[in-house]
Amino acid sequence: MYTCGPTVYNTAHIGNMRTFLFEDVLRRSLVFLGWQVEQVMNLTDVDDKTIDGAASAGVSLREFTQPFINSFFEDLDRLHIQRAEHYPRATEHIAEMLQLIQALVEKGYAYESDGSVFFRIGEDADYGKLSGFDLSQVRQGERVASDNYDKEDVRDFVLWKGAKEGEPAWDSPWGPGRPGWHLECSAMGMKYLGETFDIHCGGVDNIFPHHENEIAQSESATGKPFVHTWIHAEHLIVDGEKMSKSLGNFYTLQDLLDRGADLRALRYQMLSVHYRKKLNFTFDGLADAGAALKRLDEMRFRLLHATESESEADSVIIPASEKLLQEFGEALANDLNTSEALAALFGFVREVNQAIDGESLKVGDRRRVLDALARVDQVLGVLDADEWRDDEIDGLSDEEIDLLLVERREAREARDFARADEIRDQLTAQGIVLEDTPTGTRWKRQ
Ligand SMILES: [Zn+2]
Repeated sequence: MYTCGPTVYNTAHIGNMRTFLFEDVLRRSLVFLGWQVEQVMNLTDVDDKTIDGAASAGVSLREFTQPFINSFFEDLDRLHIQRAEHYPRATEHIAEMLQLIQALVEKGYAYESDGSVFFRIGEDADYGKLSGFDLSQVRQGERVASDNYDKEDVRDFVLWKGAKEGEPAWDSPWGPGRPGWHLECSAMGMKYLGETFDIHCGGVDNIFPHHENEIAQSESATGKPFVHTWIHAEHLIVDGEKMSKSLGNFYTLQDLLDRGADLRALRYQMLSVHYRKKLNFTFDGLADAGAALKRLDEMRFRLLHATESESEADSVIIPASEKLLQEFGEALANDLNTSEALAALFGFVREVNQAIDGESLKVGDRRRVLDALARVDQVLGVLDADEWRDDEIDGLSDEEIDLLLVERREAREARDFARADEIRDQLTAQGIVLEDTPTGTRWKRQ
């Protein structure tokens, strides 16, 4: 799976993060459904914006981009986005890019002009097949100079940009220069995943021309299909409008944190909207997401403090858990229908709450509920509140203590007193005082 990564000249905004989060959910869903995933995400650390940024800051390209690479990874962590297997930097794959250009030149798909190399779009019979772009609508055959580069045809796009005075540059058979953005993704995708791979993702704004050009370059060079499945996430808008600095509705994750936002709720909010729908970010929506999480947290809390009975009646949790995992998986397998997957979760929560209210939990049910929640949280990544605590807690969290007490009670019920004592000793060593009462075990920190 290849996922177009950030251009590291600024801090990602929440619209960028929506796409990265969708890709994270896709990745986790594929694993949930039994696939193995190898994901590549490129870091575009050379292009017009990074070069301009470095020049105005008076530093090298590497010095300029590194802080943005760091903040990008920090933002991934803040939203609990799992890491890809590979984060190749464009500047470290110039050799692969030159090879690809060379292959295109040799096959007649590319030509040099004034130190730059262009893709000859008229040679590519099926150009436009991804986006439905109709090439014949664009004037052709007209010799133009755009961006100070001479092209044979206005529609041709650049593979290699000859260096201008003072720009960072790499040597090539056509003179010093740097790769074009589209080329970068083709070269790095094929390097890590092979000439044909399964999935390529990005935002809808990547479809044309970026992904169209990736297909053109890759398939013209190899004669093979480049990608089996393209998946694109829709835009994020804010209060119903396009996000823009001039409207004052432009947010990075840090901006939201500065306003006291809960990023766990943001992840939930993003999850709850299907990736092919526009996501309308509002602070009210964020509060609703927080309320939904609270319902989940409350159920978990009640569960940990509920009692289990030994009665002969069948557990209602066993079929409820099976139904949850079945429906959850089916929803994800149906074009990543996350809202339906969440609906399945809330159906399960209702059943668990009913079982707690009716005091019908059977021995082992508490563990079954926690296991089912842990399974779906492999995709959702929002259910474990402790994972989202920003303050570093020394020792055990409240929930870990609760879980140990559950385990201690289960050990005692199974007459495994050695394990029960071991847990008490572990808690005592952490300064946790236990008090056994007729209604259960209470604890407090010393
Ligand atoms: Zn790309």
